[in-house]
Amino acid sequence: MFIGHFAVAFAAKPLAPRRSLGTLFLAAQFIDLLWPTLLLLGIERVVIDPSLSGAPLDFVHYPYSHSLVAVVIWGALVALACLAVTRDRTGALVVGALVISHWVLDLIVHRPDLPLGFWAGPRFGFGLWNWPLAELVLELGMFAAGFAIYLRTASGRNAGIKPWVLAALLVIIQIANTFGPPPPSVDAIAWVGQAQWLLVAAAYWADRPRRGADAAVGTPLHAR
Ligand SMILES: [Zn+2]
Repeated sequence: MFIGHFAVAFAAKPLAPRRSLGTLFLAAQFIDLLWPTLLLLGIERVVIDPSLSGAPLDFVHYPYSHSLVAVVIWGALVALACLAVTRDRTGALVVGALVISHWVLDLIVHRPDLPLGFWAGPRFGFGLWNWPLAELVLELGMFAAGFAIYLRTASGRNAGIKPWVLAALLVIIQIANTFGPPPPSVDAIAWVGQAQWLLVAAAYWADRPRRGADAAVGTPLHAR
C-alpha cells in the first residue's frame, strides 16, 4: 500500500486541524520512513521476487518497523513527541492513531508477512496484492475520498493549487509503482524509500495558506 496511507493522512486533517498535513503524512507513513534506514543498516531484510504479483517484494524480516507490537510502540512515541512539542492533545492522539493505521492498511494488501511481535510466529496479511488492479482501484478510491475530505477543511480551501500538485505527484508515483518494472536492487528500494521524506516536506509546503488567504478565514492556519 502506498497512496492509501496518504489518503488516510489527508482524511485526518479535520480531526487535527492544528497539525500540518506534513505531520499527518509523517505519522501515516512513519514505519515506511523508518524501514529504509533499517534496510540500509542491515537490521531488516527484503528480497526482490519478480514472480510475485502486485509488489514484487518478499518482506523476509521487518519486526522493528512492521510488527503490530512495534507499530503500537512507535505510535505511542510519535504521539508523545507531538504532544511535547505542540501541547495539542487531540492532534497527538490523531497522529498516534495514524502511525498505527499503517499496519492495519498494510494488513489488507500484504501477503502474510506482517509479524505480531519481535519473536518468530505466525505472520498476517490478506494478500490483496495478488489482485493488483483491484488493489489499485481500492487505493485510488481511498485517495480520492481522503483528498476530497481535506479540500473541505480550512487549510484545503486556502492552500490554492499546492495540494493538487502534491496529489498529482502521489498519483503518478502510485501508477509507476503498480505498472513499473521491479526495483533493480534492495539498495535502490531503500534510497527510493528515503526519498519519501521529500513527500513529507512537500506536505508541509502544500498545507500552508497561500498569501492573503489567512485573513479570509480569520483563524491561524499555520500549524506545525
Ligand atoms: Zn508499510
